[in-house]
Amino acid sequence: MTTTMMRLRQHLASSPIYTSAIARIGNSRAPHRLLPVAPPQKHRPTSTTNKPLLLILLLLCFFFLFLIPTVLLPPARVMSSSSSASDAAAAAVPFEKPRAVVKKLLAESQPEGQGATVRRSIGRHELRNLDPFLMLDEFSVSKPAGFPDHPHRGFETVTYMLEVRVLYSSKSCVTCLCPSAPRELFAQMSPSCAGLELQGAFTHQDFAGHKGTIRAGDVQWMTAGRGIVHSEMPAGDGVQKGLQLWINLSSKDKMIEPRYQELQSKDISRAEKDGVEVRIIAGEAFGVRSPVYTRTPTMYMDFTMRPGSQLHQPVPEGWNAFVYIIDGEGVFGREKSAPVSAHHCIVLGDGDGISVWNKSGAPLRFALVAGQPLGEPVVQHGPFVMNSRAEIQQAMEDYYYGKNGFERASQWSSSA
Ligand code: MN
Repeated sequence: MTTTMMRLRQHLASSPIYTSAIARIGNSRAPHRLLPVAPPQKHRPTSTTNKPLLLILLLLCFFFLFLIPTVLLPPARVMSSSSSASDAAAAAVPFEKPRAVVKKLLAESQPEGQGATVRRSIGRHELRNLDPFLMLDEFSVSKPAGFPDHPHRGFETVTYMLEVRVLYSSKSCVTCLCPSAPRELFAQMSPSCAGLELQGAFTHQDFAGHKGTIRAGDVQWMTAGRGIVHSEMPAGDGVQKGLQLWINLSSKDKMIEPRYQELQSKDISRAEKDGVEVRIIAGEAFGVRSPVYTRTPTMYMDFTMRPGSQLHQPVPEGWNAFVYIIDGEGVFGREKSAPVSAHHCIVLGDGDGISVWNKSGAPLRFALVAGQPLGEPVVQHGPFVMNSRAEIQQAMEDYYYGKNGFERASQWSSSA
């Protein structure tokens, strides 16, 4: 295949909105690529003697512009078996306005709570917040570290437990824990589940008497509203991992009564298509919808893509969106961009959907999160997030004096 043809194919492949031949011809960039032989005409005086020459040139233009793209190009695509798959993939991007990567941030480990470590991405000075998202931590905690008694007001926290894979010697792996969800997912991906155990558990208790443990794959969606005082501590042995996302509440919702939505791993909607598995924590993917109610409109997906698979996931236009890579590496936004690896947070530009390719030899797992921006001032003081400094002052007073939602704060402490 000639260089010109390859360039043309790339150009057309990256312009899926050009669906008609007229539109292709209308592209002002095309003639420069298609007519390398046509010399510049501007110094040649127009006279009656070169009219036939102009006519021939016009015919040539017509030939190159119209016939090559419409007649010669499709057979060329079929002939090339080596790259036809990737061309088809690029052309298959179903979005009019695909979302691009506008920011990439590596979440480095930092201390948090009591002896715990978090990889923070949103909430750091490089990415103060991403309306309506205030913070994203990938936490990694072993006993006795944790997050002892502390308050929240004005937003929601979403805790999603991740599996931790522990390598055992072959002899001690008699009770391999692969059968239950989401363990079977991992079992499918690894050639053998032998030698691996998955764990992850966090116990939560609050000043209103709620207490519970969430395990690998479970979600706790907590609306702190006017006030919660709680503790979040590791329940199992070894390292407990998970993601905690803070979602802001609009001014009208900041002082609502606290609320919990807890989803066990087995109850989380899931879907699978063409080598891509998704756990739908909030929102809709592959035609499947999560039962979680999001007061601030939010989508939260946990995608696992097999090597060689691709994904085109719609994301509502106007919503802020980001990806957090949990495992593996993937290509996001444009097929030709460089792969991004685990523990990176990727902020997406606006558009109607995101495309992802796993070109690596290992599974790619990431969270895709998007939310409708609130467009309100954000004033944060530690665990209190309000709209003004005066409201923060009020929150601190309420917590200190035990009022306006913090009535039970002074008499309560978590039990061991
Ligand atoms: Mn908390």
